[in-house]
Amino acid sequence: MEIKRNILLNPGPSTTTDTVKMAQLVPDICPREREFASKMKGLRADLLRIVHADPAEYTSVLFCGSGTINLDVCLNSLLPAGKKALIVNNGAYSTRAADICRYYGLPYIDMKFPIDRLPDLAAVEKALKDDPDIYIVYTTHNETGTGLLNPIRELGEIAHRYGAIFITDTTSSLAMRPIDVQKDNIDFCMASAQKGIMAMTGLSFIIGKKTEIEKSAEYPKRSYYCNLFRQYDYFEKTGEMHFTPPVQTVYAAIQGLKEYFEEGEEAKWARHTRVMNAIREGVDELGFREFLPREIQSGLVSAVLYPDDLNWDFGKVHDYCYERGYTIYPGKVAGSGMFRLCALGAIDEEDIHAFFRVFRAALVNCGVQIPVIYNK
Ligand SMILES: *Cc1c(COP(=O)(O)O)cnc(C)c1O
Repeated sequence: MEIKRNILLNPGPSTTTDTVKMAQLVPDICPREREFASKMKGLRADLLRIVHADPAEYTSVLFCGSGTINLDVCLNSLLPAGKKALIVNNGAYSTRAADICRYYGLPYIDMKFPIDRLPDLAAVEKALKDDPDIYIVYTTHNETGTGLLNPIRELGEIAHRYGAIFITDTTSSLAMRPIDVQKDNIDFCMASAQKGIMAMTGLSFIIGKKTEIEKSAEYPKRSYYCNLFRQYDYFEKTGEMHFTPPVQTVYAAIQGLKEYFEEGEEAKWARHTRVMNAIREGVDELGFREFLPREIQSGLVSAVLYPDDLNWDFGKVHDYCYERGYTIYPGKVAGSGMFRLCALGAIDEEDIHAFFRVFRAALVNCGVQIPVIYNK
C-alpha cells in the first residue's frame, strides 16, 4: 500500500513513518486479553527508559485522550487538601494549566512572566519561601506557542528545596530533547504519542514518582475519569487501563518506541537539530524574523513573525504549501502575527530544503517581496 507522505511542520501531530502507520493494522483483539495487557506492560516500561527513570522509583500511567488530559490529571490528582499549586507561567500551555486549576477550584498562584523571557527564579523561590502551602511547582518545558525552553532543572531544584513536588509539561520535548528525570529534578512529566515518539493521536502518558501517586490515594478525588491514583492502581492490579484503551493507537505507539530506541536518543536529537538548523537557514535567507532570540529557544519550534508586506496572506501561503504536501501552522500569541515551523516528526533536513523551495514559490505567487520587509 502506498501512503502519501506529508511533511507536517505544525506542532504535532507529526509526520510518521509508514511502519508506524501500518502497525495499526492488526487482527481485532479484546483489550481485556492477557496478550494486550502484556503489550501495555512493555510500552509502560519503555516510556520510563526514554527519560532514564528508575522503575523502582517511577511508573508510567497511560490515558486515552489528547495531551491536555495529562495536565488535567496531574493537577487535579496530585494536590493535597488545603495545599496550593504554583504555576510558573510564560506561555499558552502554562496558562492552560492555570485554567485547569481554576476549573477545578484548586488553590493556585498564576505567576506570570513575559512570554518572551525566562522566568525569574528568585521570584519563584521567594513565593515558595513566603507560602509554605505551595505543594506543586508546575511549568511547561518547551512552550510550544513560542518555542521558549524553560529551565526545568533549576525550577525542580528550587521546588525540592522547599518541600514541593515539581511537575513539568514535556509534551513537546520528551523523546526529542534528552530528559533525565533524576538530573532534571522531575517528579512528574508527560507527553502524548503523536509528538516525540512519532506515533498516533489519542494516547497520552504521565511518568512520575510512585510514592507521590500512592500518597495521593488520600487526597480529595476531584474527577472520576481523570484521576491518577485510580488509573495507576488499576494498572498495578490488572495490567490494564481502567476503561477501554485506544487499541490500535497502542500498537502504533509500541512501533514508535521500537523505532525511537533503534534511532537512539542522541542521534534523534541530532536529527531534530539538523532539521531546526535547516529551518533557521531558510528563515534567515528569506529575511524573516523570529519572535524569540535563539539563545532561549528549545530548538524544536521556530515562531516566525509575519512580514509587513500588504501582499502577505498566511491563509494563501498555507494553502499553496498544503496542496503540495507541506503543513505550516499559524501562531499563538496575541498581538503579533506569526506562524510556526516545527522540527518534530520523521523528517530530515532534505525535507526542509524541499519545503523552502515550495514556500519561496508561495511567496512569489502571492507577490510578497523577497527578502521580506519589516517596518521597524
Ligand atoms: C501538544 C501539547 C499539549 C497537548 O495538546 P493536545 O491538543 O491536548 O494534544 C500540551 N502541552 C504542550 C506543551 C503541547 O505542545
